[in-house]
Amino acid sequence: MAKIFCVANQKGGVGKTTTTVNLAAGLAKIGQRVLMVDLDPQGNATMGSGVDKRSVALSVYDVLLESATVAEARVRADKCGYDVLAANRELAGAEIEIVNLDRREKRLKQAFATVQSEYDFILVDCPPSLSMLTLNGLCAANGVIVPMQCEYFALEGLTDLVNTIKQVHANLNPDLQIIGLLRMMFDPRITLQQQVSDQLKGHFGGKVFDTVIPRNVRLAEAPSYGLPGVIFDPSAKGSLAFIAFAQEMVKRVATM
Ligand code: ADP
Ligand code: MG
Repeated sequence: MAKIFCVANQKGGVGKTTTTVNLAAGLAKIGQRVLMVDLDPQGNATMGSGVDKRSVALSVYDVLLESATVAEARVRADKCGYDVLAANRELAGAEIEIVNLDRREKRLKQAFATVQSEYDFILVDCPPSLSMLTLNGLCAANGVIVPMQCEYFALEGLTDLVNTIKQVHANLNPDLQIIGLLRMMFDPRITLQQQVSDQLKGHFGGKVFDTVIPRNVRLAEAPSYGLPGVIFDPSAKGSLAFIAFAQEMVKRVATM
């Protein structure tokens, strides 16, 4: 039975999409069955998995509006080794369209239930907001992976996310927990990053993942080839870090 994880942080550019596609590819490489769900209308995780967002017949939008099932809408990302539930600009409209529907926050959860037995992991790439889309992701999830950069305002930025997760936990999804904070684009030579990293560990303790993802240009180049870095250049420093992260996630899941 798949465990479902949202990759979320309302800040843009912190590495959510990079984390989602590389973790998906890393997990697939070590033998896990993965569904990668793009919940951002920008569709970067879709394109970054080699799936053309403009030409998919069905997407996560149709699943949210219940005009298609996950089984109908998913496509295989052949080179990546996982399945993709794609997103494109259409999804931006879903926000408004589902507001007045019943069970509006639980639509993704119900949709995932129909395929949950076919996967070990369902990973959801959230948009950079705490919107109805993200809320659907959080209601469906067992846990949240929070990628972040170790910068000056990083801790402050986490407060809103942590509060939202607490509220969802209390009111909508008692399963939900922060699985961990992932230090992204880390450069240990930068003193400030070390300091913020130490603060994070002081504040969140064991919730900070052991794995650190370094700044690595190969991870940034890979999307233009429609591939996660882990597939594009498996021996790159960043790719090796994501394989280690996949292994850490498998271990964490075993204790859940
Ligand atoms: P988000 O989804 O949170 O907006 P992205 O995953 O799109 O963030 O990352 C933002 C930018 O940073 C992208 O251009 C991406 O290629 C780049 N990037 C992400 N992680 C790394 C990394 N570890 N090293 C170098 N560049 C990275
Ligand atoms: Mg993104």
